[in-house]
Amino acid sequence: MRCLWTRKGVFDILQLMKKLPFTCDQLEELAKTYPTPFHVYDEAAIRANARRLKAAFAWNAGFHEYFAVKATPNPHLMKILREEGFGSDCSSLAELVLAEKVGNTGEDVMFTSNDTPDEEFRRAMEMGAIINLDDITHIAAVERACGSLPELVCCRWNPGPLKGGNAIIGKPEEAKYGFTTDQLFEAYAILKAKGVKRFGLHTMVASNELDPQYIIDTATLLFDLAVQISQRVGVTFEFVNIGGGVGIPYKPDQVEQPLGKIGAGIEEAYRTHLIAKGHPDLRLYMECGRCITGPYGYLVSRVRHVKRTYKTYVGLDACMANLMRPALYGAYHHISVPKYGEAGTTYNFPGLEPGVPLMKCDVTGSLCENNDKFAIDREIPRVEPGDLVVLHDAGAHGHAMGFQYNGKLRSAELLMQEDGSFRMIRRAETLSDYFATLDFPGL
Ligand SMILES: *Cc1c(COP(=O)(O)O)cnc(C)c1O
Repeated sequence: MRCLWTRKGVFDILQLMKKLPFTCDQLEELAKTYPTPFHVYDEAAIRANARRLKAAFAWNAGFHEYFAVKATPNPHLMKILREEGFGSDCSSLAELVLAEKVGNTGEDVMFTSNDTPDEEFRRAMEMGAIINLDDITHIAAVERACGSLPELVCCRWNPGPLKGGNAIIGKPEEAKYGFTTDQLFEAYAILKAKGVKRFGLHTMVASNELDPQYIIDTATLLFDLAVQISQRVGVTFEFVNIGGGVGIPYKPDQVEQPLGKIGAGIEEAYRTHLIAKGHPDLRLYMECGRCITGPYGYLVSRVRHVKRTYKTYVGLDACMANLMRPALYGAYHHISVPKYGEAGTTYNFPGLEPGVPLMKCDVTGSLCENNDKFAIDREIPRVEPGDLVVLHDAGAHGHAMGFQYNGKLRSAELLMQEDGSFRMIRRAETLSDYFATLDFPGL
């Protein structure tokens, strides 16, 4: 049997393990009140991370992060982020309502939608949200829906195939979002002619990006474009919004994005590509979701069965309904087995702890879909039925993506508060929730 064995001192262990902010005993205690599976978020870590982001951009007086609500649409978490000074980036009616309920209205809300219903334009307008248009035809759509255009309008740029421009930006021309470059020039001229007074410019071309240069390059491209549009069309930008897409290290050997380096790189580009070219100061906006809450949310589940057929299958009480990313796009989520951990840290990266037996297995949920797997051919510390396991980095696009297919219900969300106590911030669904939309005798 292969065992984990210690190689402390050979390489930097901290780079290779994933820590948990709680012990196995704490989780077992918690599971008495809140049966597994559940998501748990670490408030102190979320706040500390929010402060790191703000510090990285402190050079920009108007810097504002709009948390992408779709990542973790829980008002309790949104409220914490609002307390840290973050607005909300919304793209649906439900997200606008959530933003409003946590106190984000007016220009604390960025409405970055696409294929937008009239009703949502109206709601965003009523809230005084910043409307970020996805297409040139949406100028007329907003006028039709709302009777007029808002005083401040932002447009979303799709840079398309960046010939010779920037090698590391992928294939934006395959994305459904945004205006072409030519359409942008036309759109701002139209908006100006229609009396719009205040302007913003947006793009989002990254997703889960771990290269800091990519984020810096995105901002640089936007600064260049803002200068060109302002010179040619005669408008001045109040802000550029570089979108979200800052990645997180899902794998234990990946490294966190250096926010300070990104901030400094963008500051340099701001001076050389914007201010030196004669554009007045503007506010830098971001709408990150994943890097704000992702690493600070955990899906806690229990091993239900261990099955040995042609392969070994570890069946959990969590399934795709709780965390869909692995099944949806083969995403890696690290799996820790807290019973092998000690004093609040636990890890399963081979080479770290002496004497921990490993097993190679598929870690599955209970859906009748063979892709309902959290890991395939993964070596994890050996588990038995009844053991707790923790799936890391489930704090964004985790619970949020949940669905009820196959009659699987979405789990509870808990908050580990700054004082270390736990609070439920969303209860688990029940059968009555599942049947709530049916009108059928006996259900
Ligand atoms: C999803 C999304 C974001 C957030 O992206 P992350 O990868 O979570 O940072 C921001 N803006 C828009 C328009 C989005 O669709």
